[in-house]
Amino acid sequence: MYLTNFPNEFQRALPILQQIEAHGYEAYFVGGSVRDTLLGKSIADVDIATSAFPAEIKEIFPKTIDTGIKHGTVTVMVQGIGYEVTTFRTESGYQDFRRPDHVTFVRSLRQDLQRRDFTINALAVRADGLIIDEYQGLADLAAKRIRAVGNADERFHEDALRMMRAVRFASQLGFEITTDTYVSLLHNAELLQKIAVERIHTEFEKMMVGANWLIGWKLFVATNLIKNTPFFQDHLQDDYPNFTAVTQPLMDEAAVWTLLGEGFNFTLNEQRQLLHSWKSANKVIADSQHTLAFSRLLQKHASPTAWEIYQVDATIIERLATIWPILKLQADFTGLAIQYQNLPIKNRHELALNGQVLIAELGIKPGPAIGYWLDRVEQAVVMGKVGNETGQLLNWIKAQNQ
Ligand code: ATP
Ligand code: MG
Repeated sequence: MYLTNFPNEFQRALPILQQIEAHGYEAYFVGGSVRDTLLGKSIADVDIATSAFPAEIKEIFPKTIDTGIKHGTVTVMVQGIGYEVTTFRTESGYQDFRRPDHVTFVRSLRQDLQRRDFTINALAVRADGLIIDEYQGLADLAAKRIRAVGNADERFHEDALRMMRAVRFASQLGFEITTDTYVSLLHNAELLQKIAVERIHTEFEKMMVGANWLIGWKLFVATNLIKNTPFFQDHLQDDYPNFTAVTQPLMDEAAVWTLLGEGFNFTLNEQRQLLHSWKSANKVIADSQHTLAFSRLLQKHASPTAWEIYQVDATIIERLATIWPILKLQADFTGLAIQYQNLPIKNRHELALNGQVLIAELGIKPGPAIGYWLDRVEQAVVMGKVGNETGQLLNWIKAQNQ
């Protein structure tokens, strides 16, 4: 079968394949970009596999970067875009269920495709459009199936991260995992403990922001992968959250963790521990904590004060609006968003008053008194007790002093 319509990304990278071929080697587009093209989806990154060795690639192209020479990867720069060109290779070793101990460069595409995780990721496209399909990847794509290349048990023993990738692709693509691959997930879930949390995290995140995250999540639970991840391995009882399907995907990573915080009814402290043990970025931790805190506040009283709304921001309200329906909770998020928009100020820098003005106009001494008055003025403005105008604010302070 031939791919007749190359997407722009392939068009731009085509000269690389052609030049490698002109030097007598083979070269193909491989992996995710081929899968996504055949599915009519947009492409993340274009990967190229070749029979040429790294040194040979570097001789062909003037501009290259040694990205991972040991593993066979050279980045070729074309018009400011970098393309990873990787020599066909086989892998062996895998003593630690993680990375191969050895990679061996080979000249055969078939062997290279054999080391790949799933049949839908083991397709290759030649410069003339010919699709190389050694492992029935096309049939699996058409039937929306995720199936390990070869023996699933062996493949998951080689690299246990592939189990996370299976559920991630199920979520991103809305595909089903074939029975043999699924059974193998069940048998091997414990091997996930061997995998660095950073790698699990990357796949988990892609899974949860995927269009069909609920499918991915249910698989993650049903296969017991969840019980072999940090924090959850020590904190799980059998009452899993009962999420409701919604069409809207989760907004961002903080939305994911807030949803889990609510779903498992974690305290703020527990959620923080969870995020730390998954080595989340500080920004994600802060955003998740804020969002969970506001979610808890809203459950206590549905009409927060202006001051409480001022503590959050538009993103937190938007994020919660996507999460609550999944938890079967309801609130007037549109109203809250309007209330937020209508706040007289959004942060303290917008106050028509600062420390210097307080010192100059009211003779307040530099020190704690400045902070005290700024706090009070900030609250009064947000609560609508005084207008945000310098003269009014100064008068308001004077009035408080009397
Ligand atoms: P994405 O769209 O998220 O980039 P992808 O399939 O391209 O998905 P990558 O991590 O970019 O995923 O990997 C590129 C290709 O390398 C895969 O399509 C697959 O063929 C192969 N691959 C990646 N990780 C593994 C792995 N752990 N085991 C086997 N093959 C893998
Ligand atoms: Mg990719």
